[in-house]
Parts: sequence; structure tokens; C-alpha cells
Amino acid sequence: HDLQEPLRMVFSYLQLIKERYGSKLDSDADEFINYAVDGAKRMQGMLNDLLNYSRVTTQGKPLEKTDCKDVIKQVLSNLQIIIKESNANIVYGDLPIIIADTSQLIQLFQNLIINAIKFCKKESPYINILAKRKEKEWLFSVQDNGIGINLQYSERIFKIFQRLHTRSEYPGTGIGLAICKKTVERHNGNIWVESELGKGSTFFFTIPITRGDYEQ
Ligand code: ADP
Repeated sequence: HDLQEPLRMVFSYLQLIKERYGSKLDSDADEFINYAVDGAKRMQGMLNDLLNYSRVTTQGKPLEKTDCKDVIKQVLSNLQIIIKESNANIVYGDLPIIIADTSQLIQLFQNLIINAIKFCKKESPYINILAKRKEKEWLFSVQDNGIGINLQYSERIFKIFQRLHTRSEYPGTGIGLAICKKTVERHNGNIWVESELGKGSTFFFTIPITRGDYEQ
């Protein structure tokens, strides 16, 4: 993408300085060049995140009949390695067929499940996915037994690049929930969290029931 071009230029000129003048510079200069490369790398990561964020609306597909059970099966297959490694136990109830952008729904559940596994200190993360039919919407929930969230931050975590931990504590860039929120809003729904510190969190989101929705 064009946005990456200036960064590629920064990378290649830093590389050139290193190669051509490396032997003439002192160790401080070497260190400074490495910092500059690190900064540029982080910038590249953020740029990629921003592109993915903006693509939720610019490259969204038409909403179509989507079986949420198939969505979860796909997510569990995509995540089979981290599920195995983390010893996570993921269960789900009856899930409906709704009108949605299938790949975005996969991404949405995937982000929530990855977080539920990541922000857990217990030996086995336990994750429960449910859907309830309300009058005008489906209410989905993804519940975990993880570290929980101080509710003071319950809105902030959905903002882009906002995180509550350092990258050394828990890896990540703070884009996942921002993408979830944008996705749910593209479907005219809402997303929020309820949580108790140390006990776990439940992420809820709604998707309006459209004519053409089918229950299983
Ligand atoms: P990232 O995972 O890269 O930090 P997210 O946007 O997915 O970015 O999440 C933002 C922040 O919200 C996380 O850094 C974490 O502090 C908090 N968070 C998200 N999901 C959970 C969860 N299931 N349990 C506890 N905290 C969570």
C-alpha cells in the first residue's frame, strides 16, 4: 500500500547508512540507528492495524445469511493451535442463522476468543459463547474466566490503540476490540463488556434481527 512507501524509504536508507558508514561510526551511532529501525518497525505495525481498521468499512462484503454455528466452527479451526497450547475449554450454546458479513463475524468472534484466552492467568481458560433472541435483536455473549477488567476502563478498551497492559505483560497493539466495535456498528448493533476483576469478563454484542433471519 502507498502508505507503506515512505516507511520502506526510511528502512532502506537506515540500512544504507549502516552498510556504508557502519565502520566509521561509533557504538552510540549504531545504537541510535537500531532505535530508529525499531521505531520504524512499530510504525509499520500500527499502519497495518490502521489499514485493517479502516477496511472494516471500506472493504466490507454485503450482509448475507450466515450460520453462526459454522462461524464458530471456523474460528475454532483457525485457533486450534493456541487453543491446544493454552488448554482452553470453549463451549457454545444454540447459535442462530443471522444476516451478516460472514468473514467479519469470524474476525469478531476470533478477536474476542483470542482475548479471552490471552487475558487469563488460570491453567485452563474457560469460554462460553451464547446467543439469546430478544424482541428486535440477537444478543451474543462471550464469557471468560480471565483476569477481568476494571469497569472504569470499559469504554476506553474499545478505542483504537488503547490497552491496559504493557506489551511485555501481554502482547498486542490495542486494535482488536476497536475492530470488533467497528464491525458490530457496521451491522447496526452495540458492543459492551461486563466484568469483575479477577473473576472474568463477558463481552456482549447485539445484531438486529432482519427480515430473512432464520432460527435453527
Ligand atoms: P490488545 O489485545 O492488542 O491489547 P484489544 O483492543 O483486543 O487489544 O484489547 C484492549 C484491552 O482490553 C487489552 O489490552 C486488555 O487490557 C483489555 N481486554 C480485552 N479483552 C479482555 C479480556 N477478555 N479480559 C480482560 N481484559 C481484556
